[in-house]
Amino acid sequence: MSSTPVAANNSYAVIEVSDQIFAQNTTCRLCQRELWCAKALFLETFMRRLFLHNNLTREKNEFQPANADLVTVYVCGPTVYGPAHIGNARPAVVFDVLVRLLRELYPAVSYARNITDIDDKINAAAAKEGVDIKVITDRYRAKYHEDMAPLGVAPPDIEPHATEYIDDIIAMINELIARNAAYEAEGHVLFDVTQDAEYGSLARRTREDMLAGARIEIAPYKRDAGDFVLWKPSSDELPGWESPWGRGRPGWHIECSAMIAHHFGPTIDIHGGGVDLQFPHHENECAQSRCAHNAPLARYWLHNGMLNIAGEKMSKSRGNIRLLDELLADYPGEAVRLALLQGHYRQPLDFTADLIDQSLRSLDRLYTVLRTHGDIEAAPQAAPDAFMQAVCDDLNTPKAMAELFALAKYADTPDGKGKLLAAARILGVLQADPEAWFASDMEGVDVARIDDLIARRAEARATRDFDTADAARNTLAKMGVSIEDTPDGTIWRLAPTRGTR
Ligand SMILES: [Zn+2]
Repeated sequence: MSSTPVAANNSYAVIEVSDQIFAQNTTCRLCQRELWCAKALFLETFMRRLFLHNNLTREKNEFQPANADLVTVYVCGPTVYGPAHIGNARPAVVFDVLVRLLRELYPAVSYARNITDIDDKINAAAAKEGVDIKVITDRYRAKYHEDMAPLGVAPPDIEPHATEYIDDIIAMINELIARNAAYEAEGHVLFDVTQDAEYGSLARRTREDMLAGARIEIAPYKRDAGDFVLWKPSSDELPGWESPWGRGRPGWHIECSAMIAHHFGPTIDIHGGGVDLQFPHHENECAQSRCAHNAPLARYWLHNGMLNIAGEKMSKSRGNIRLLDELLADYPGEAVRLALLQGHYRQPLDFTADLIDQSLRSLDRLYTVLRTHGDIEAAPQAAPDAFMQAVCDDLNTPKAMAELFALAKYADTPDGKGKLLAAARILGVLQADPEAWFASDMEGVDVARIDDLIARRAEARATRDFDTADAARNTLAKMGVSIEDTPDGTIWRLAPTRGTR
């Protein structure tokens, strides 16, 4: 073993470097020199530390997976009975970035995001159309995939469907009954919250808060008002499966616990979802798994904040639900993705026309840089320290975006361009061909005339002939072309339809 002192945060640590690492003859991801350069040691030991706000501890903790060879992540996915709205896209994009980052930091990550394909809302939608629930769930699962793809959301490694895990669900409920944490009553099986001393520890709510928050139905068969349904009886018209408690169907919460246990065992590294799921859904997942396995369900709980539309909560009654397919008709998916990353994931995000327009302009500027340096071949590079520090600081995407713009200034060399693209890859942006980005809605557009008007405007401005410059700008505006002067030159784009106004 060799020992090498490395500076970190004005202090020194002695790093034990095994002879094996030297024998690998690897190169530094940062400077491409041999691994024992100081930068490489620093990078390998300090820059790659990931800190995440863990809702279990309510603190930012260093992320340390149970097994660094395989990080396990589970995120609650959609209940498929209608088209996805922009609020559904936020967790999909946020946890896509987290998984991209984890894949950068660890050799292997297994990411599961479920599909809830049995639910009373699905039953209602099927009854309304007079079709089997599978018609509804197949249609909206496909639609969900279709809407998430333009946002650059990679498919998860595992996408379990609740109806394919009925045996696991029944086995887990049986285990809970055997352990006295659940009981049967009138064809239902209920979880007995009084048997779980830690119930409420994730949401940190008092019993009164929990009862109010869950809007719990006070059914006569419940021993305690807080008990929740694991299994419920199905009438002949409703979908159902045979079980020890008669023909019925699972409650919502048990599916996630059963599917996690099936694929990953009792405890996973990271469980994610929207903060609206923290109670009761995640609290109940925790309780079930804890009581069935005598082990915690997840070591880190991450929750994304809610999304509002122009300052208001998105709701049917307000009539302000923004469906993704409508937004995607007006804006490129990458601009929608970037808009969702403009705020820190834990904070509420106000989704406005300005936010998405600003994201569109940001991408125009960055793609302009890439187009300008289109002839430079990017060298294989890792994302630089400052960028990694931002994303490793509890996914600080606003800061990471600022770093991306800083990196764009150095994209005129193979190394600089390589670093920009490596950083952008973690955010899931800038991976398209710049020409394709600008050509996406160019059909029937007289590009030569637009370029000519922009050149004439630039010449006129250079000679302080502002009347001619303004005339060129007005002509462009009439053609539906918006322009912006940036340090890298004038960029233009067809004015988008104002989807959110
Ligand atoms: Zn869940």
